[in-house]
Amino acid sequence: MSEIVFLNHEFIDISQANISITDRGFLFGDGIYEVIPVYQQNMFRFDAHMQRLQQSLAAVNINCTLKPNDWQVILNKLIANANNPQEDHSIYIQITRGSAPQRSHYLQNDLTPTIFARCSPSPLPSIETLRQGANVITHQDCRWDWCYIKSINLLPNTLLCQLAYSQGAKEAILIRDGNAIECTSSNLFIVKNNIIITPPKSKNILGGITRDFILELATQQQLPFAEQDIALAELYQADEIWFTGSTKSIVPATKIDDRIIGNGNVGPVWETMIKHYYAAIAKLKS
Ligand code: PLP
Repeated sequence: MSEIVFLNHEFIDISQANISITDRGFLFGDGIYEVIPVYQQNMFRFDAHMQRLQQSLAAVNINCTLKPNDWQVILNKLIANANNPQEDHSIYIQITRGSAPQRSHYLQNDLTPTIFARCSPSPLPSIETLRQGANVITHQDCRWDWCYIKSINLLPNTLLCQLAYSQGAKEAILIRDGNAIECTSSNLFIVKNNIIITPPKSKNILGGITRDFILELATQQQLPFAEQDIALAELYQADEIWFTGSTKSIVPATKIDDRIIGNGNVGPVWETMIKHYYAAIAKLKS
């Protein structure tokens, strides 16, 4: 089936979308990306995603001339061109530093960035599916020190995700300096004594838009929460463990490193939070 994508200021069929083999994204992983969920043709938290995109670009010093207003027009066109526009989608944006004649570690700042975006079907899992719970494992965080940048360098993330899957788990919770900080493609929450706890934002984690949304919902619903470090021992003793992201919503874990979490079923605080989360999204659709 054909699919229209955006590549370097053109809307073209995906089969015609090609980039140069000298692109620094291909040679060095020199680029950044962003993912925006789309519910019934509405981009969720567009401004927050644009802000994070600009933050990632500034952090790696890539100069992309497209501004949020330009992106709004481009992405709405991609959404309108989707094969089933009424379905839920996610938009993937990738911007690399561009193509240079010679492969050199030295950064050339006068390159023209390569800009790519596509809109793909991405239905959120149903609450019933999520309620089955997931296994998670823990692993040392072997990524770099600037994880707040949404870099396309995802080899540690993909290898650790693969390791989790090979052990029958859906995510790996990453441990740095004795604390559980986030996962390979999601943020981390625990519940202890009815308090929702998530690690504070720092350079070591990606500031998730879903994470912020959950904290907003907690505030609205007067559910107690704290942004604080989670030691590995606290993780093992948590009543509930969740991992969160734009394409996943809030996934409750029921087993960690083969230990049962809580009583082995998804917890009551997750039940409350997921109900509010899905209600807020349903409201956007109505
Ligand atoms: N942390 C990492 C490492 C991620 O890759 C992601 C999403 O891709 C997240 C957290 C969650 O971010 P968001 O809620 O904005 O999807």
